[in-house]
Amino acid sequence: MQNTDITIVGGGSAGLTMALLLARQQLRVVLVEKGAAPSLTAVPAQTGAAPEYQRVSALNMASRNLLQQLGIWPQLLAGAAAYTDMQVWEADSFGRIGFSAAEQQLEALGYICDNEHIRQLLYSQLQQYSNVQCYFDVAISQLKQGEREVMLQLDNNELILSQLLVGADGVNSFVRQHMQLPLTHWDYQHTAIVAKIRCTEAHQLTARQVFLTSGPLALLPLPEPDLCSIVWSAETAEASRLMALDDNAFNQALCAASQAVLGPVKLVSERQAFGLTMRYASSWQRGRVVLVADAAHSIHPLAGQGMNLGLMDVAALAQLIGEQHMAGDDLAATPMLRRYERWRKAEAQSMIVAMEAFKRGFTAKPALLKLLRGAGLVAADKLPWLKQQLMAHALGLKGDLPELVKKTG
Ligand SMILES: Cc1cc2nc3c(=O)[nH]c(=O)nc-3n(C[C@H](O)[C@H](O)[C@H](O)COP(=O)(O)OP(=O)(O)OC[C@H]3O[C@@H](n4cnc5c(N)ncnc54)[C@H](O)[C@@H]3O)c2cc1C
Repeated sequence: MQNTDITIVGGGSAGLTMALLLARQQLRVVLVEKGAAPSLTAVPAQTGAAPEYQRVSALNMASRNLLQQLGIWPQLLAGAAAYTDMQVWEADSFGRIGFSAAEQQLEALGYICDNEHIRQLLYSQLQQYSNVQCYFDVAISQLKQGEREVMLQLDNNELILSQLLVGADGVNSFVRQHMQLPLTHWDYQHTAIVAKIRCTEAHQLTARQVFLTSGPLALLPLPEPDLCSIVWSAETAEASRLMALDDNAFNQALCAASQAVLGPVKLVSERQAFGLTMRYASSWQRGRVVLVADAAHSIHPLAGQGMNLGLMDVAALAQLIGEQHMAGDDLAATPMLRRYERWRKAEAQSMIVAMEAFKRGFTAKPALLKLLRGAGLVAADKLPWLKQQLMAHALGLKGDLPELVKKTG
């Protein structure tokens, strides 16, 4: 039997970041992950090899600040693409808007990072803390909570008692289901196809997104000048058709959908498909159990904000836990967990609403709506104040930020 302060279920970006934030505050942490440990021998930042870019995320400035504070940013940046421009347009219309880092006096608008590289660097950083113990390749056989502690039993017979359990176990969270935390969800009726492509023309560190009537297609620049990651979200029947095409036919369909903005393109990876569902837990905490990141909410990837949102959850929760710890108070005190829930729910809700407005707005087909959309984009493109507001939201530097994220050095 092991006594610890906090147990974290899930070793994705959220769970590992949470572990690191708590470890730095001298708390005793146990992290439990059902999958394999991130490789420490093949960390691109250390071997000099490029990451695989099988799954990537566009991280914003707020996430960059957090990862900087955690000491992994320089290494992550070495394998990331810092994009300086963004172009968004609507197919078959005159609607178009562009953003540039130079216009905002910034070094970049965001960073395309490899998801596994993020995990590897976080896990590698965790190695220096003897107050963190990680269990990989294990399943949970029991989760029970009492008045003073939470008990987690693993299938390797390990028994872990802690003051607080954090569910960071992703969209199908076992913790959320086991605790019967109610979930609101709806199917976006979109499937996202993710792949890596080579383009004929250089991407020039520009992130591009074209809104087709069947859904958005994003072309995200990677560090090599002709390499991009795509996230092509389409109505599910259309996505199944695209997945069934052979590589040549898919390349042609992709080139046509992107309006050949980067010339003819060629797949250089397998295609992966992800069904997209909006999920929002209406309660994020019960007793000594609390949810973070995708376990609490998941959104459409069209604005690339899911991981950013999750990282801010863990920074906020770790800050409040730290305050309890300093004061010698219960690490699972209900007022503190409710404060966290109120704080982060507000951010998650506004993101869910924005994603829904974008998705509905851009897939609505009537001609008048199309005209208004086009006119709206062109008008927004010409209004510096409005563009600045839109940009500030995308950079993640608006709203009630956790203290650590406000630090830029
Ligand atoms: C197509 C697509 C594109 C995206 N692009 C972006 C983007 O550009 N920018 C962005 O910010 N976000 C993006 N996202 C969202 C982002 O990928 C997620 O928000 C983020 O990865 C969630 O991290 P997490 O740690 O909460 O969950 P996960 O990464 O899912 O990690 C959860 C972990 O918990 C483990 N686990 C699950 N169940 C158990 C259990 N019972 N016991 C133990 N462990 C368990 C899993 O094995 C996993 O390792 C995108 C999402 C999709 C689908």
